[in-house]
Amino acid sequence: MHLICFLIFCVLPFFDVVRFDIPRQRFYFAGQELWISEFGIIFLTMMFLLFCIVAVSMIFGRMYCSYACPQMIFSEVSLTLQNWIERRIKKRFISWPPARREWLSRAGFYSTVGVGSIFLSFVFTAYFVEPYDLFKRLMSLDIITAGGIAGAVTTIITFVDFAFLRQRFCTSVCPYGYLQGMLGDRNTLLVHYRDANQQCIECKKCIRVCHMGIDIRTSPFQIECIHCGECIDACNDVLARLGKPGLIHLAWGEKGEPVGVREPWYRRLGIRDAKRAIVLAVIFCYGAGLAVALTVRKPVFVRVAADRSVLFTKDATGATLNRFRIIVGNRTHKNASVQLALDGLDQAHISGSGRIAVNPGQTSEQLIDVSVPAGRQTPEYVTHFRIRAVTEPGGDVYSLDTTFIMPRRETGKPETGK
Ligand code: SF4
Ligand code: SF4
Repeated sequence: MHLICFLIFCVLPFFDVVRFDIPRQRFYFAGQELWISEFGIIFLTMMFLLFCIVAVSMIFGRMYCSYACPQMIFSEVSLTLQNWIERRIKKRFISWPPARREWLSRAGFYSTVGVGSIFLSFVFTAYFVEPYDLFKRLMSLDIITAGGIAGAVTTIITFVDFAFLRQRFCTSVCPYGYLQGMLGDRNTLLVHYRDANQQCIECKKCIRVCHMGIDIRTSPFQIECIHCGECIDACNDVLARLGKPGLIHLAWGEKGEPVGVREPWYRRLGIRDAKRAIVLAVIFCYGAGLAVALTVRKPVFVRVAADRSVLFTKDATGATLNRFRIIVGNRTHKNASVQLALDGLDQAHISGSGRIAVNPGQTSEQLIDVSVPAGRQTPEYVTHFRIRAVTEPGGDVYSLDTTFIMPRRETGKPETGK
């Protein structure tokens, strides 16, 4: 389970499942590239993830800490690695003085953790900097740019954490651990010790296997307990040799209602009160809203606005020109373009080809002129018309109802819009 969670942690940023690209100001979720301007979708995503965390913590306690948290996984790996290296060196160099063996064990352990820290900090920083870009910075030993400095600092922190702090970080620093503790209530899944018939043989294996260094027999409400279940397995293992059942179990809430007994399916899933049902309903609403928002999201967007700093101008042929500002954003990973056309303005045309090409992930802002040839001047000062933009890919059609401003024909006043 730990390995699966760790692999998920490693691959998420590389496949844009979840990634906040700070240099490019993009948020990636489920393979979708969200622009920072798409605040509505980012808000829905954040709220969806937040409520998922709240629901898991409320129903199952600190399950995230015990199974999914990279800090916890690597703390355990680091401890196991240290013990393994010490054992190997003791066995292989049995004739050496203890101090020298100790020195060699530490050198081997710290160098291994050092390499692991570089890898871990790379994965962690990849959640905020594009992985290929980050790799180039790493290869050039970049400690000048913000991304390079962040990677170097993360490496040092990771090394100190896994070489010296480990689970002490969880019990003294980690705010998420405390948050999960606060979200638990009288129905949250807990690890209970029950020994009504005084079957405990005081072997203390449950204490020895606990990475958090606690004795679960004193209380199920210890904030350090991450519900990993190691003590449950240890006790089951010890007492099974005596033909007795273990004394430590996962159970629901303060009352310690057993898990897996015959009761309605929703209670077996942990939905044991109205509060949990409401939280799950909120998750469903946010999830549905997010799915809809991602589905209707346009891969290429177009904004058109009239530039009225000058109402109109005349060119050398006597044609009247109005200026418009076009913004095209390409949210895809392929080249995109927009073809512009005019409706409701006779014989008018757009400067250039009326086609705007945009590179992947880029925004293009251009000024275009719409011109009406000389001799087509209407009696009206203002003519209503429509600018149409058709995107490729996507084939979405954007329309802007706007106005074309011309000089008054009959007044004899100067023909200028300034
Ligand atoms: S492992 Fe079980 S039997 Fe041994 S001390 Fe803990 S609770 Fe008692
Ligand atoms: S008391 Fe048991 S479940 Fe809690 S952290 Fe220790 S080993 Fe894990």
